[in-house]
Amino acid sequence: MAAQTVASTTNSVDLGPAAALSCRECGHRVPLGPVFACEECFGPLEIAYDFSAYDTEELRKKIEAGPANIWRYAPLLPVPADVADKPNINPGWTQLVKADNLARELGVTGGLYIKDDSGNPTHSFKDRVVAQAIEAARAFGFTTLSCSSTGNLAGAVGAAAARAGFRSCVFIPHDLEQGKVVMAAIYGGELVGIEGNYDDVNRFCSELIGDPAGEGWGFVNVNLRPYYAEGSKTLAYEICEQLGWRLPDQLVVPIASGSQLTKIDKGLQELIKLGLVEDRPYKIFGAQAEGCSPVSVAYKAGHDVVRPQKPDTIAKSLAIGNPADGPYVLDIARRTGGAVEDVNDEQVVDAIRLLARTEGIFAETAGGVTVGVTKKLIENGLLDPSLTTVVLNTGDGLKTLDAVAGTGLTATIRPSLDSFREAGLV
Ligand SMILES: *Cc1c(COP(=O)(O)O)cnc(C)c1O
Repeated sequence: MAAQTVASTTNSVDLGPAAALSCRECGHRVPLGPVFACEECFGPLEIAYDFSAYDTEELRKKIEAGPANIWRYAPLLPVPADVADKPNINPGWTQLVKADNLARELGVTGGLYIKDDSGNPTHSFKDRVVAQAIEAARAFGFTTLSCSSTGNLAGAVGAAAARAGFRSCVFIPHDLEQGKVVMAAIYGGELVGIEGNYDDVNRFCSELIGDPAGEGWGFVNVNLRPYYAEGSKTLAYEICEQLGWRLPDQLVVPIASGSQLTKIDKGLQELIKLGLVEDRPYKIFGAQAEGCSPVSVAYKAGHDVVRPQKPDTIAKSLAIGNPADGPYVLDIARRTGGAVEDVNDEQVVDAIRLLARTEGIFAETAGGVTVGVTKKLIENGLLDPSLTTVVLNTGDGLKTLDAVAGTGLTATIRPSLDSFREAGLV
């Protein structure tokens, strides 16, 4: 492919169609490398591609003939062309569930879908971003993988490192849910609890990167962030392909750092530019928990800057009080005609139960946030129920069992029909 020739002549690493890193703020370009901030203006770097050689129909056919995981989109990702042959956890191609029962409850008539990313190898969307980061880590010669995590990322890094033969050492707030701690530790890497919240953990990792102690480490969400972030585009690609190469009218996306939401928008824009979907408007809605709602607060106040908060919510996977991509999320919500909304912890739990009861999907608290926010946006008239709507569930309820504590047996009986009748269930 011509695009790959361009990449390999300007960079010493082969990351397929990725041509360079480009600053999101000032457009300054640098060769591909483990860097994340612009040397000119400190803006975030992101991947610039050369897709110029692609023919739309050929590309569509190639994708459709690809594997049932994110590597079907390898021509659109910063990965080598032979990526599917490498040891990787191969996430993606998760179910897009037509949620007719939930649609009836919420009054949605235009088609409601749940993109259910609990079906990934470590049961959250984070496998998508880690799968990309690990290919970059391989290309740059790192042998230790690390991250700051609100829980799910730690598990994804642990699993991917184990499969690919990297050492891993990851950092989490010390007080996370047991399900997330076990999930992160089971793969045999090192797991360090930090006495502090996620923002403290993140600050610590930034210090570690600049210190000899962290030399040679690939931090998936810091020095490998430009590559990591591209993994979220695959959600946009899959949703459109699963809808028959069609853009949904509305998407409801959770916000932690805001990276996922911004890259979903980037993915949709790419599909439009490549001619893989028809160019028509779509709206992106951001969802936060009230106890960590810096972007929602800024959106409602009409601000362009996001004022940090100290998180206090059961939606711990979204509990980033100082979201790096917050301002970009505000731009996207406003540009596409969406919004950013939040729900309280009680509404999160109600929404987890609602989704489970109507569609048989047990979501983690982040899924309670998106479903709860969808309900609220319909009630306040911001989301149009007559349009096709996709709501993301990004994690598995088994990881946040405490949120639904008290859910359990209907009755305890002796093994006899009399006892069953006495329980009042017939
Ligand atoms: C990390 C995470 C997100 C989104 O994170 P961003 O930092 O906004 O990309 C969403 N849901 C779950 C369950 C997560 O773990």
